[in-house]
Amino acid sequence: MALEDYKGVFTFAEQVDHKLAGVALELIGKGKELAGDLGCEVTAVLLGSGITDLADTLAEYGADHVIVVDDEKLKDYRTEPYAQALAGVINEYKPEIMLVGATAIGRDLGPTVSARVKTGLTADCTSLDIGQFPLNADPAEAKQNQLLMTRPAFGGNTIATIACPDHRPQMATVRPGVMIKQEPEKGKKADIIDFKPDLSENNRYVEILEVIKEAKKTADIMDAKILVSGGRGVGSPENFKLLDDLAEAIGGTVSCSRAVVDNGWKPKDLQVGQTGKTVRPNVYFAIGISGAIQHVAGMEESDIIIAINKDESAPIFDVADYGVVGDLNKIVPQLTEAIKAELAK
Ligand code: FAD
Repeated sequence: MALEDYKGVFTFAEQVDHKLAGVALELIGKGKELAGDLGCEVTAVLLGSGITDLADTLAEYGADHVIVVDDEKLKDYRTEPYAQALAGVINEYKPEIMLVGATAIGRDLGPTVSARVKTGLTADCTSLDIGQFPLNADPAEAKQNQLLMTRPAFGGNTIATIACPDHRPQMATVRPGVMIKQEPEKGKKADIIDFKPDLSENNRYVEILEVIKEAKKTADIMDAKILVSGGRGVGSPENFKLLDDLAEAIGGTVSCSRAVVDNGWKPKDLQVGQTGKTVRPNVYFAIGISGAIQHVAGMEESDIIIAINKDESAPIFDVADYGVVGDLNKIVPQLTEAIKAELAK
């Protein structure tokens, strides 16, 4: 593998039903930063059927080039044709870096493609940088301009930085909500490349007989501006009524810790944290949540964190901007009433 043949930062522009995933735009934002450090450009790879017009949105969010594979075989996501298409793009255009969202689709597609193009992949990254590898080596002996991929390891108890110095592309999946998308530049255009890789049907092609969409029962906590999050300290599913009332008064959405999901009090969709969702609201209430590292990993980027906990030594107070020490059963109803009274003025 001639590493010097591989150039540019590529991002997978995931779309489903002609709607781009938020992480597709976030990856372009991060890709621009990495490309700035490497002195190269960002190319978004858009796969699907009847999707070419989405290239304009990708351009507005910062893509310099968009490679489009528009083929009937790519109408609904299936591992085999998508893997053939993305591997075909990589083999033809030889990117130095290939980023994929850590969504259900990306977690299937990314590793499949990395195996096919014979490189490594670091899954579920929380941070990406350009630097030398090994990190602490004498610069004269280290490899420069490597993608340094950081992710939680050993159950979230430590953070590992991983590089892929001997193979290309350097591949990573990145969790939705972790990177920041750029402000769109209306009317910005990208160079659009229509690519036709060989998509040959084989015995790994599955036939989709029917698509049954689950009706969405919960709000997407990743879109909420105010989150009222409850932990084991709330005590019972019924007692979440206190948080529902606060959320209603303040125009927020209820979310929770993993302990709450494990107890069966709330669905997994509402879980914040390393194995839940990464959120970045304007205001995050942490109520009866201790502040375990795996929870904090999913909410520490919130603009304002307000913690309510009866234990003054709870680690949540280390990341909170405002802290109230006391019994949530007394404090939350008073807070709700105070907010209602204030809003009624
Ligand atoms: P607890 O730690 O039990 O804390 C409850 C808190 O409520 C305590 O601080 C207590 O003082 C307070 N309290 C109790 N009663 C009251 C009251 N009346 N008034 C005020 N305060 C009160 N966790 C996540 O949240 N998200 C994840 O994505 C996640 N992923 C994980 C991944 C791995 C691999 C592992 C090993 C763990 C993960 N966890 C995750 C679990 C995490 O380690 C914690 O166990 C969990 O976050 C604890 O939830 P909690 O804070 O609600 O409960």
